[in-house]
Amino acid sequence: MRIGIIGGGQLGLMMAEAAHHLNHFVVGLDPNKDCSLSYEADEMLVAEYNDNKIVQLLSEKVDVITYEFENVDLDLIEHYLHCIPQKSNALALSRNRFIEKSFAQNLGIPIVQFELLKDVEQITYPSIIKTTTGGYDGKGQVKILIDEDIEKFHFQPNTEYIIERFFDFDYEISVISTRSLTGEVVHFPIPKNTHKNGILYTCEITDEISQSIQKQAQKYSQQIIDSTDYVGTMAVEYFVKEGVVYFNEFAPRPHNSGHYTIEGCNVSQFENHIRAITNMKLIEPILLQPTCMINVLGHQRFLVDRMTFDICFYHDYYKNSSLVNRKIGHITCISSDEKILKNTVDYIIGDSNE
Ligand code: ADP
Ligand code: MG
Repeated sequence: MRIGIIGGGQLGLMMAEAAHHLNHFVVGLDPNKDCSLSYEADEMLVAEYNDNKIVQLLSEKVDVITYEFENVDLDLIEHYLHCIPQKSNALALSRNRFIEKSFAQNLGIPIVQFELLKDVEQITYPSIIKTTTGGYDGKGQVKILIDEDIEKFHFQPNTEYIIERFFDFDYEISVISTRSLTGEVVHFPIPKNTHKNGILYTCEITDEISQSIQKQAQKYSQQIIDSTDYVGTMAVEYFVKEGVVYFNEFAPRPHNSGHYTIEGCNVSQFENHIRAITNMKLIEPILLQPTCMINVLGHQRFLVDRMTFDICFYHDYYKNSSLVNRKIGHITCISSDEKILKNTVDYIIGDSNE
């Protein structure tokens, strides 16, 4: 088939790799002609995402379109729903944190206390103020931990915020799930995620997470993916505290915390995404070996030189390496020996965690 991908970042790149693995033809759309996807796509349309004429052209060139990020033009996606199996329901919710969190709350999923922030008087601490739209990798977030933080916070024009209680969670997880056109859902093994400065840092997949936590999280993800009638790979991030799973946010696309599936599982999150949108049968994911993924940011390229090649794999996103705090690649380590895995990860991370 011919697949169109809107968005040329690393997710688009890895979607295209999976599409080629299944012998599909890929046409990408991104304003940057040197974007990550351009290194893998068979053809690129270089234009803004909201260029109606170009999306029309894309829809004429391909059988099916997918998007790899959330800040696509919602109206445009809705106009081309006939060739976008992913649809727009989940996208419309996840683009706005207040709407997204209200949706999860209405499904009965535990959630950290949050409300729309209208006035400075509402601010108490410890809390986190987050913009309702456009935020990612911790951007648009302000921690309020002391009185002075309140004074430092200023409402920006035309910006809506939520204020959320600062949550002293035990750890974070995410559930990566894929839903087919016929409504079949498969879940990937659940990674434990660590963040640094709001950016995902490592994902570790071992058998540490209890069955009860896994079951709760998968049940909530199933509710979210079914009630949005989503097709493709979706990720839901959760906080875990004292055996209870709390919703954080979801992404209607493959997710950074699912990159480990490329080497760690019998099928990757990207392959199942492509299978779903092209109406192929999904593959039930199985963890092959304990796995850990480490993100590499622009100022940390030296991490790659610490890889031990027999159990580590590097994925480069073909980005300008000087980008501070921007993801330029990731390393996946796999080993049946958890001690070797841990030692390898500790060695790669080394003092970069300081
Ligand atoms: P983003 O869209 O930037 O990923 P998140 O809401 O997921 O936004 O926040 C990024 C990270 O910040 C989370 O993964 C978590 O580590 C931390 N964080 C977010 N909200 C809270 C909270 N209420 N309490 C404590 N930590 C939080
Ligand atoms: Mg997040």
